Amino acid sequence: MSTTALIDTHCHLDFEVFDNDRPLVLQRASDNNINTIVIPGTEKIYWERIKKLCAQYESLHACYGLHPYWINSHEKKDLQHLNAYIESNHPIAIGECGLDFRPHQADKKTQQYFFEAELDIAESKQLPVVIHSVKATETVIKTIKQYTKLSGMIHSYSGSYEQALQLIELDFFISVGGSTTYYNAKRIQAIIKKIPLDRLLVETDAPDQPDQLNKGKRNEPAYLINTVKKISQLKQIPVAKIAQQTTINAKHLFRL
Ligand SMILES: [Zn+2]
Repeated sequence: MSTTALIDTHCHLDFEVFDNDRPLVLQRASDNNINTIVIPGTEKIYWERIKKLCAQYESLHACYGLHPYWINSHEKKDLQHLNAYIESNHPIAIGECGLDFRPHQADKKTQQYFFEAELDIAESKQLPVVIHSVKATETVIKTIKQYTKLSGMIHSYSGSYEQALQLIELDFFISVGGSTTYYNAKRIQAIIKKIPLDRLLVETDAPDQPDQLNKGKRNEPAYLINTVKKISQLKQIPVAKIAQQTTINAKHLFRL
């Protein structure tokens, strides 16, 4: 199927789960007109793996960061490494970084420390940030308000409509993926209907968060079209227009 070019703004294509068939995954993405994929960083030990992949495939673009989900494996000195790594490897963004306030996660203070340090780096390097925020949108907003020159995306958005407007005001984009296609995803669907299209991004978050049609499967970039179709249906705007504008948005944010 041919559509307007799409950009998968958040895909963990470096994960081992793609090691056996990555070229085929990329071929299916390309067959669906997805030739630009953003790979977020997770832990220091995997930055090199992302770097190699991005050197190998023109469609892949690297971000480097320390993901809050793996906070216990990060050390404070990793932040200095991050600073140096960015200097020599020129990612398109810093991340993913952020806050995850689910009960089993590391203490909030430690998360906040890494998050702010990564925002400092992003601002000083004039790079956008990829933010992971789970049950933490209020604190994320409060934190990024301290920065005047920051822009970025909130990946897999799960906050409220009012918070989305605040984030947009702070020059952030709202990114959504497969979970918005679920029959019971009424909350995010209502938000998508209302927020301006020029502030929306689309992502798969593959291998996680497959859409309704691919429930239970490993997610991959080719499925991104299902999210675009859902946004089209919710906003009553043609698929081609959703594809075109979300691609413009991603190019603008990541300077692609
Ligand atoms: Zn992610």
